This record gives sequence, structure tokens and C-alpha cells, in this order.
Amino acid sequence: MIDDENDEDILNKSVSLKKVLKNILLILLIGVGALFIYLGGENQMTNLIIGFSLICVGTSLIQIQKQIPEPIRQTLTILACNLCNITNVRHYEHGDYVFKEIGSCDKCNESMRIKQIYNVRLKKPTIDTKKTDEKKKKVEEKVKV
Ligand SMILES: [Zn+2]
Repeated sequence: MIDDENDEDILNKSVSLKKVLKNILLILLIGVGALFIYLGGENQMTNLIIGFSLICVGTSLIQIQKQIPEPIRQTLTILACNLCNITNVRHYEHGDYVFKEIGSCDKCNESMRIKQIYNVRLKKPTIDTKKTDEKKKKVEEKVKV
């Protein structure tokens, strides 16, 4: 019963089938461990130890799985032109602060100021310039809204 509910939750979160199967296997592992403890048998002490260690392995594996890899965080600096309000996004550089004047606008040559500094979560590092450009576009769209 509880397993079914868990599976539904996992599917709703569109987690890959592999992860679902892994979770089922781990739950089974814990279940088998519990069975060893409950059934006892001839060598009750041995079964208890086997059961306990199975549960330990199962639960610790689940905990490892739950440790979602930390998303890559990147600090971005948004520059805005004083005159035409064009925004520019670039990687945060040491010494950046809001309202700091940096460079000049590509369009009107008016000085640009840092409008905002913020952190974004990325699935992949944007060291690749092409990917950075894509991210820039997305960020710029957000800024316009
Ligand atoms: Zn401008």
C-alpha cells in the first residue's frame, strides 16, 4: 500500500524508470531484512544480524540516492544602460556591486550601471560560450518581463 503511493509520487515527479526500479529494489531489500528479523528461525541471532544489516544497507542507499547533486550556481551581473535601458548580462566579477558604473552602452555609448546581481541555478556549467549565450537570452527575457 505504502509502496504504491510512493511509486505514484515518483512517477508524478517524472523521475526516470531506473530510479523507480532502484527504489523498489531497495524497499525489497529492507523488506527481506525485516523478514529475516521477524521469522527468526534456527539461528535467530544470525538472522537478526543479517536482517539488521540488510535494513541498514537499504536505508543508507536510499539516503545516498536522496542526496541530489548540488545544482551548479552561478552569479550573474545585470548591467543596464542609463539612457536606453538596454540590459546586458555577464558573469559576476569580483568587485561588482549594484549601481556600480561599468563600461558603456553598445548602442548609445552612455555609461552602464549594474542593475542587479543574482544567483541562478544551472543544470550544467555555462563555461561553454554557446551555452552561456543561450542562458543570457533567457535571462534577458526574464529581465524584460
Ligand atoms: Zn544605451
